[in-house]
Amino acid sequence: MPPVRTRIAPSPTGDPHLGTAYIALFNRCFAHRHGGSFILRIEDTDRERSSAQSEDKILKALRWLSLDWDEGPGRDGGKGPYRQSERSAIYSDHIRILLEKSLAFPCFCDEKRLAELRREQMRLKRQPGYDGHCLNLSADEVARRIESGERHVIRLRVPREGECVFEDLLRGEIRIQWSQVDMPVLIKSDGLPTYHFANVVDDHLMEVSHVIRGEEWISSVPKHVLLYESFGWDRPVFCHMPLLRNPDKSKLSKRRNPTSIGYYQATGYLPEALINYLGTMGWSMPDGEEKFSLADMEARFELERVSLGGPIFDREKLDWLNGRYLREDLDDAEFARRFAEWAFRPELIGKMAPLVRQRTSRFSDVTSLAGYFLQGELSVSADDFAHKQLDQEACRRILLYSLWTLEASPDWNRDAIEARLQELATRMDYKIRNFLFPLFVAITGKPVSLSVFDSISVLGLDLTRARLRAAIESLGGISGKQQKILEKEFKTL
Ligand code: GLU
Repeated sequence: MPPVRTRIAPSPTGDPHLGTAYIALFNRCFAHRHGGSFILRIEDTDRERSSAQSEDKILKALRWLSLDWDEGPGRDGGKGPYRQSERSAIYSDHIRILLEKSLAFPCFCDEKRLAELRREQMRLKRQPGYDGHCLNLSADEVARRIESGERHVIRLRVPREGECVFEDLLRGEIRIQWSQVDMPVLIKSDGLPTYHFANVVDDHLMEVSHVIRGEEWISSVPKHVLLYESFGWDRPVFCHMPLLRNPDKSKLSKRRNPTSIGYYQATGYLPEALINYLGTMGWSMPDGEEKFSLADMEARFELERVSLGGPIFDREKLDWLNGRYLREDLDDAEFARRFAEWAFRPELIGKMAPLVRQRTSRFSDVTSLAGYFLQGELSVSADDFAHKQLDQEACRRILLYSLWTLEASPDWNRDAIEARLQELATRMDYKIRNFLFPLFVAITGKPVSLSVFDSISVLGLDLTRARLRAAIESLGGISGKQQKILEKEFKTL
């Protein structure tokens, strides 16, 4: 049997997600259980949405959780580079092979034509998708149009008849009609590969034996299978893991639950407890023990024992488990050390210092002034938001719109935050003093405090989001229906 090689392939387009850690954990356990290697590959071919900052956060989050990789950025295993943006020449070589065999074809259809096509298909209640318009252009015409510099993409030729059959390690045989599979773009008009193409080429060249990933990728498998066949390569074993869910069974989302690993770090969970908890998502130790280390899990892991019922990520359960770690695994000295390590994080204390230094005469004043930097969600109640000119609904709107405004702004320095919130206040037609009142209460716990813009900047998006959400909940929350109405209003502000 060839060596077991697994991988995770995150796209660095946002904050490190719990789902990435969960899939990384299972990939790593499976590889190590079988004496194989766990690879990290960065899928950064979407130039606009990828950033070095996001990649850096993902790498740090994985390391914090002890999910470091055997091969990947900074750990050469001879199959690199491990960043897709550095592998362009490889993709060019490979697309040529498919073009020569006519298994892929240049497509000159522009956005306008594709949009019209989609509209027409919707009107006729047909499956939307590419209609094969450029499939049979003559070689001369293709050459001429490319020569003249016409914008084009390269698509994969997908059969229109029959079905694609593949095995999933957990789900058995899966059949999907080829007519349900769109002819995917492999190379975009900017010359860069798409996810499907780069992913398959890299999995093959990096000798990945098992593709273990979230179930949202099942519908992509036919495209991948076709690519493997087109190149004449063996397929890897596919295994699609069940998605993490909120306690109400909906897909885990940041609206209901913090999904960013940064939140768990900032609120003082132990990485070993979080990893342990993720290990219980759809899996259990053969002896049923709920508390186990990463090493234990790696030693006893069996992929076949993953259960497909959507695993529920329940914060209360995580808190209980984290509490067990604090009580059972740390003695007083170790607790003191780990707490100090968390509380006196240089990046936090360094940012707090300039805010409090001018306003204190003794160190002992610091906690009453700035203790909220070390808290998670604050315990605020509806009464804390009582205000002469703002009722509860107004407070909820201000908090929610501020959250959406902040989520949309990549720039997290205090001046950018101030400018954005000032602008929102103007658009909502509030005096800035009134507008900031609910934000002060939600973010700092008090109506008067250190600058709320600085506080948001220091706390970061994860904690800011959690506090704004908690405040909105304490003000009665927002129903799904209201949320939709408010989304509309927010867009037209
Ligand atoms: N880049 C994809 C992602 O962001 C990888 C999916 C896969 O594992 O194939 O999740």
